[in-house]
Amino acid sequence: MRAAILAVGTELLFGQTINTNAAYLSRELQNIGIDVMYHYTVGDNPKRLKELLNLAYRDVDLVITTGGLGPTQDDLTKEVVCEYFGEPLVEYKDYTKALEEHFKKAGYKWTDNNRKQAYFPLNSTILDNDIGTAPGIYLEKGGKAVATLPGPPREMTRMFQFKLKPILLKDSNDFIYYRILRTFGIGESSLETVLMPLIDKQTDPTIATYAKEGETSIRITSKRKSLEEAKAEVDSMIFKVNQIIGAHVYSYDDESLAEVVGKLLMKKNISIACCESCTGGLLAAALTEIPGISKVFNRGLVTYTYGAKEEELNVRPETLLKFTAESGEVCREMVEGLKEKTNCDFCISITGIAGPEDLSPEKPAGLAYIGIAYNGKTEIIEFKHRNVSRKWNRNYMLLNMLYEIYIRVK
Ligand code: AMP
Ligand code: MG
Repeated sequence: MRAAILAVGTELLFGQTINTNAAYLSRELQNIGIDVMYHYTVGDNPKRLKELLNLAYRDVDLVITTGGLGPTQDDLTKEVVCEYFGEPLVEYKDYTKALEEHFKKAGYKWTDNNRKQAYFPLNSTILDNDIGTAPGIYLEKGGKAVATLPGPPREMTRMFQFKLKPILLKDSNDFIYYRILRTFGIGESSLETVLMPLIDKQTDPTIATYAKEGETSIRITSKRKSLEEAKAEVDSMIFKVNQIIGAHVYSYDDESLAEVVGKLLMKKNISIACCESCTGGLLAAALTEIPGISKVFNRGLVTYTYGAKEEELNVRPETLLKFTAESGEVCREMVEGLKEKTNCDFCISITGIAGPEDLSPEKPAGLAYIGIAYNGKTEIIEFKHRNVSRKWNRNYMLLNMLYEIYIRVK
């Protein structure tokens, strides 16, 4: 089945509200084998909404609208959709009564404009709204289907999951299975290039790559007549993908690098401490997001100034003066000081230039040193990456630290 998502609301066009509903529905529909061909957004305007319905149905069988179901004048989605389908709206008296009851119970004042939420076309399925007042409808006519969902994401997601999805699944006899592989250290374009021989040949499973701040994901999806068949197809494709880029894959289940690293440390019972300069505690924050990490995470120090590095980690003033804080030499003394202090199995330090300004031509933004004391040896690794923004630079430094931990403890 081919679908379009049509978001209604002037606030979306103004950029006041981000259209998260379309993103959510796209992900969900893809998971149940419905191909989303278009996202449309329109203001609270009946004429343009109708034009978009005309346009959408040239190419899709299902349109899902979100927004514009409420009681006020500008909420007109249901009315326009029903007019498009030539289905008159009739009042469902029981619904009006239920609405009035609901208002009484909640202590709200009843206004007569609420009545319009109890009008439905006779030939439709009503999608009840368990946590709001505006119900949706599902309507099929002449090979076209439409579903109207409310705008507030909380109501929309609930209605989709519990009311609409079961209806959509009823007619589907395909099974979708997918896995998301996560990689680090290979860019999206290189990834696509090396995987091209596989991507090119395949219509099922499909392989899609997409980049998220320094990490790149590969989604492998199969749609088959049985779940077992779809799983087998995906697994055999993962095997082929692994032969090409296996070294870069750190998760086969869409886990973040921090999650993978945290779980490894816990599983192998490796205690860890970190001291961070340029990342200011990002590593400690990422690791402590993982439930149960207190078993292995000892401490994270944010040693920003020269004084802090001297006091907390015994970095020598001479080293700081001679090489500056953003140097391999200082990074080494940081991690050695941390090891001395904590005696953790894995000690890691970082110092560098977060940017956005370069420190000097020799010390550009994005340059960082990572120090690692593990398995009886100390290593200092120099990183240079392009300067994007302070936020991006720091996040990339975090990912590099996590990756350096990962390759040593996996
Ligand atoms: P409505 O059902 O049109 O009255 O929308 C009610 C509220 O839901 C709006 O004020 C927005 O905050 C939110 N909303 C509407 N459409 C969307 C959308 N496409 N994505 C995210 N939030 C939305
Ligand atoms: Mg609205």
